[in-house]
Amino acid sequence: MTAPVRTEDSQGDRGSRETRGSQELIRAEEPVLAHNYHPLPVVVARAEGTWVEDVEGRRYLDMLAGYSALNFGHRHPALIEAAHRQLDRLTLTSRAFHNDRLAEFAERLAALTGMDMVLPMNTGAEAVESGVKVARKWAYDVKGVPADRATIVVAADNFHGRTTTIVSFSTDETARAGFGPFTPGFRVVPYNDLAAMEAAVDETTAAVLIEPIQGEAGVIIPDDGYLAGVRELTRRKGCLFIADEIQSGLGRTGRTLAVEHEPVVPDVLLLGKALGGGIVPVSAVVGRRDVLGVLHPGEHGSTFGGNPLAAAVGTAVVELLETGEFQRRAAELGVILRAGLTGLVGKGVVGFRSRGLWAGVDIDPALGTGREISERLMREGVLAKDTHGSTIRLAPPLTITAEELAGALAALEKALG
Ligand SMILES: *Cc1c(COP(=O)(O)O)cnc(C)c1O
Repeated sequence: MTAPVRTEDSQGDRGSRETRGSQELIRAEEPVLAHNYHPLPVVVARAEGTWVEDVEGRRYLDMLAGYSALNFGHRHPALIEAAHRQLDRLTLTSRAFHNDRLAEFAERLAALTGMDMVLPMNTGAEAVESGVKVARKWAYDVKGVPADRATIVVAADNFHGRTTTIVSFSTDETARAGFGPFTPGFRVVPYNDLAAMEAAVDETTAAVLIEPIQGEAGVIIPDDGYLAGVRELTRRKGCLFIADEIQSGLGRTGRTLAVEHEPVVPDVLLLGKALGGGIVPVSAVVGRRDVLGVLHPGEHGSTFGGNPLAAAVGTAVVELLETGEFQRRAAELGVILRAGLTGLVGKGVVGFRSRGLWAGVDIDPALGTGREISERLMREGVLAKDTHGSTIRLAPPLTITAEELAGALAALEKALG
């Protein structure tokens, strides 16, 4: 027998929950929520644009932007409107049927990125998994690699997601330890080292898979010429170049794609995070027809991939990027960010790397851990997150104003003082 629905109780319950304060809500999570995160002690209840507000009504400038999932800020009006319109018409069909939103999304995303074909998925990790599968299939069907022998060359200190196959080629012991046995077929080489990559690529290599800028590693920007070198090497050796632009892409660095800072066109792009406009998870593998064309019906799929709500939001995201406004903002405000951080070098900042509105800031370890600095920033009304050790990642919404950015830099100076 099913339990009766207790409307009164559950409503009363909800009423009391809404009055719970930050500290109480944080304590309530402890026994019931898996401990795979260590969030800053802030409980966000609403947000708009660059700002979030906690349960007690305190406001914070969001300098993390959902790890770049919120490139257009919280609840961008055009994205919210597209989502509302679609919610009122059709939300899910599965790919067993066509839906009237998917063609436009794929056409416009392909046009935006200069590619031919789109494989829609949901999360970033799924896009990476899908890219790995496509590369292997391409190696067997097109390149002629013997069955089950395909290799993929990746970079040390990569971050591509959390599935068992993806952590198999992570070099972060915290992400890997305890989750074996691992998927074979990956070779790890140092990032930003073309000679090492050249030595690792052989006739079994399906693809080289790298981030054009390593985000989780601390916004590590390779030397000028590295990406062009990867392009030349992969073309010469006859393997694919897959660029994971899940965090670096869609305006963050001042261009639509981070690879565009060099005259480089990869064979396959992995997109995610901002593609869902901060509303729904939307990811995609985007590539040339002769690569994505290796997939046939039944060989790969996803119940939610390409759903009409995701396609509607994704199309609205592409529409924002088509204007070039956000790329321009990231480039222009990136100059202010860089100047501000340069001024803090020697005043608690020991070094930093930045491109567009994206920075990895190394804090003098004597001043505290990255975590401690993030907590101090929080008390100054700015939300940011440490990556490794004493590095803080700054990645505000691309809608941030020059004044807000100046405020964030002033808060950082105070937090370091
Ligand atoms: C976040 C991220 C992923 C994984 O995306 P999820 O949506 O969290 O699965 C993959 N690659 C890069 C570069 C990322 O930053």
